[in-house]
Amino acid sequence: MSEPAEKVLSIADSITVGELAEALNLPVTTLVGELFKNGIAATINQRIDFETATIIVDELGLDVELKKKESTNGSSERRVRQLSDHAVDRPPIVAVMGHVDHGKTSLLDAILGQKVADGEAGGITQHISAYQTIRSDRAITLLDTPGHEAFAALRQHGATLTDVVIIVVAADDGVKPQTVEAIRFARSANAKIVVAINKIDKETANPQLVKTQLATEHNLNPEEWGGDVIMVEVSAKTGQNIDKLLDMVLLVADMEELKADVDVPAEGLVIESHMEVGRGAVVTLLVEQGFLRPGMFLTAGTSYGKVRTLLDFSGKASREAGPSTPVTVTGFKELPQFGDQFLVVKSEKEARARTLAARLEGERNAASTNVTGADLLKRMTQQEEAADFNVIVKADVQGSLTSVIDSLRLIETNGEVSLHVVSSGVGNITENDVRLAADGKTVIYGFNVDLPPAVKRLATRERAEVRIYSVIYELLDDAKRSMEQLLAPEVVETEVGTLELKGIFRTLRDQVIAGGLVTSGKVSAGLLARITRGDEIVGEATVASVQREKTAAKEVFEGDMCGLDLTTDRKLALEIGDKVSFFTREVVERHL
Ligand code: GDP
Repeated sequence: MSEPAEKVLSIADSITVGELAEALNLPVTTLVGELFKNGIAATINQRIDFETATIIVDELGLDVELKKKESTNGSSERRVRQLSDHAVDRPPIVAVMGHVDHGKTSLLDAILGQKVADGEAGGITQHISAYQTIRSDRAITLLDTPGHEAFAALRQHGATLTDVVIIVVAADDGVKPQTVEAIRFARSANAKIVVAINKIDKETANPQLVKTQLATEHNLNPEEWGGDVIMVEVSAKTGQNIDKLLDMVLLVADMEELKADVDVPAEGLVIESHMEVGRGAVVTLLVEQGFLRPGMFLTAGTSYGKVRTLLDFSGKASREAGPSTPVTVTGFKELPQFGDQFLVVKSEKEARARTLAARLEGERNAASTNVTGADLLKRMTQQEEAADFNVIVKADVQGSLTSVIDSLRLIETNGEVSLHVVSSGVGNITENDVRLAADGKTVIYGFNVDLPPAVKRLATRERAEVRIYSVIYELLDDAKRSMEQLLAPEVVETEVGTLELKGIFRTLRDQVIAGGLVTSGKVSAGLLARITRGDEIVGEATVASVQREKTAAKEVFEGDMCGLDLTTDRKLALEIGDKVSFFTREVVERHL
């Protein structure tokens, strides 16, 4: 029989992780694991787009080719807007991506001329944020995207909003895994790439090497070598060539002829959302078309509201926000999720009706998905005597909260430890959380949130465990370690020798003096001894000392006669001919 030809699978523009696993006949966890390796914390119900699916299939080395199904009128397809004759130029939307420590934050900082990096301690750069800068009287919108899962969420909703990706590569470090990931993202999002070779002020900088790596390994050929990729050597530290970088971004954007309609109801994406005391839902939106103004009614996902305040990225009140502009609004009744599409509607009545429809649709989808994250968890914890690991999760924004909880649930435990999310929410850790965790069995995880001093004091008093992280992987590592501690330790016995009893000289309540022939390995003091007669275990003892030819010995080897002094904790009735095996016993901590 010959090998079957490569399998061809037709899938839509987007597919849920569960559906893809089924189509590929793979365990969902394999897919989830592969996505996770690629920085995407996905759940089984999460939709991934065609490009992501292709990458994952490729990485898994499957003999399958994915083909895009001819598009129907499905809602999750990429929206290509029909532009009218009145469409106007809009600023480019630029994402800065690259490997950790290559200078993304510093570069944004240099571009904006303000201390973005200062915010990092507070964690604001952990989730997607947006800014604008002006160069030659033209605006450039910058997305700050350290959490790549944020991008995944945006892509899932079918809108590829990034026009240009600045890929930052440190000149002293070269191309690294997240650089490759960024290149992939840019290609799959159909965005133009501009490479910023950063840290050229450093003595060890080697920009030529970076270019060679990009050209030979990633097919990004620098213009100066006759290719079509603009690469700018910059220093975020000294500010060298930052202007040039922005000019190049504008140049690339010009070639794309970026336009949007303005005389239509405003529409765009939710790129951040969190609750704030006194302000309610605080939601950052990126307008894609039309103008958003205070007083307008809008819907996003399953939430709606009326724009109460409209602030620009710097926190100043604005009267309107047009295409490619990030704004923060208040007035939503509930927290929409990042990646939700927002739309301005005529009246509160229409907003309510649309929200209700979205909610029903969501419920229908949930009901029709065969496996949910909770099912997955149940399957993982099928064993009866699973130990419990209880957590309370608090995060700065809804998006991170979902990612943290979903990722926690995906920690493989072979069913031996089961994770319970006792409570979760957006916002700082509260006294209530501490009270819930005061049972000594619950850990509070905070992601990019604060532990106010009064709450901290209460936590100390109540002995509640609070752990705050700003990097998701570190939080997950900690949770995994904690779950490992709940695993019953493994006992490992290693046999080192055997002996056949030839004589029993004295039997006391807690001691036996005997002798025999070492039939394999060796015998030495301190080893454990197990005595068997046929298939039956007669008893266990500890070797107190050994003798060879009536003199004390350290060890007696195979083939020699050996005198044994055994210590027991109950009287042993040994017989000539019994077999003794000698072994060490170790208690080994287990890992997941
Ligand atoms: P990110 O993780 O990509 O956001 O990187 P950061 O912006 O936090 O920068 C990582 C480190 O590199 C920090 O210590 C920066 O001060 C340093 N750094 C960033 N850009 C430059 C640069 O152009 N020159 C030098 N010498 N150091 C830089």
